[in-house]
Amino acid sequence: MIIREAIFARGVVGPKNLMEDDLPHVAFIGRSNVGKSSVINSLVNNKKLARSSSTAGRTQEINFFLINRAFYFVDLPGFGYARGSHEKRNDILQLIYWYLFESEINQYKIVMILDARIGMTENDVEVYNDLIEHNKDVVLVLNKIDKLNQSEKQASLKKLKQIIGENKFLQYSAEKKTGVQELLDLICPIS
Ligand code: GDP
Repeated sequence: MIIREAIFARGVVGPKNLMEDDLPHVAFIGRSNVGKSSVINSLVNNKKLARSSSTAGRTQEINFFLINRAFYFVDLPGFGYARGSHEKRNDILQLIYWYLFESEINQYKIVMILDARIGMTENDVEVYNDLIEHNKDVVLVLNKIDKLNQSEKQASLKKLKQIIGENKFLQYSAEKKTGVQELLDLICPIS
């Protein structure tokens, strides 16, 4: 799969504009700062397409990027943002849950991004279990793998496997572009 074109299509905060066509959705979810924007940008080979949650702007919306005019990358807002108020955090999770579980959309894949140094937090486990319960096809991405040495990596993988069992995950580095092609092949609805 080669991404030739990635265009910001729209930002969405509710049911309006959610379904403008029936192109497949590949959704990206993760806590703030796990590197979700960096992962999306590494996949589309554009340093600026998705905005980091540390910058103001489109980060509290669901952002749609049209890929090769054939499907969408859907950038869900980062959850558990430490600087937001408690209500704001709940609002964000509600928006995410509404898109994932209450809208009519059946995502082709959901890419859940983790920080390899931190692994799965309690918050991540909750969201992950909800996705599995709803029969979502989840691909876990262990980002920032470049930050770990060999023994730290072993420990991180072992801990993750204890939580997710045989489910698939990918070691990834948005910074070093490790795993890019493999992830594209796993998540893109067309080849
Ligand atoms: P987001 O809030 O999840 O969208 O996270 P960002 O993409 O803004 O990344 C948060 C921070 O992590 C930034 O300082 C990035 O440069 C850094 N980062 C993201 N991915 C990687 C990675 O694979 N390796 C390293 N070393 N740093 C990363």
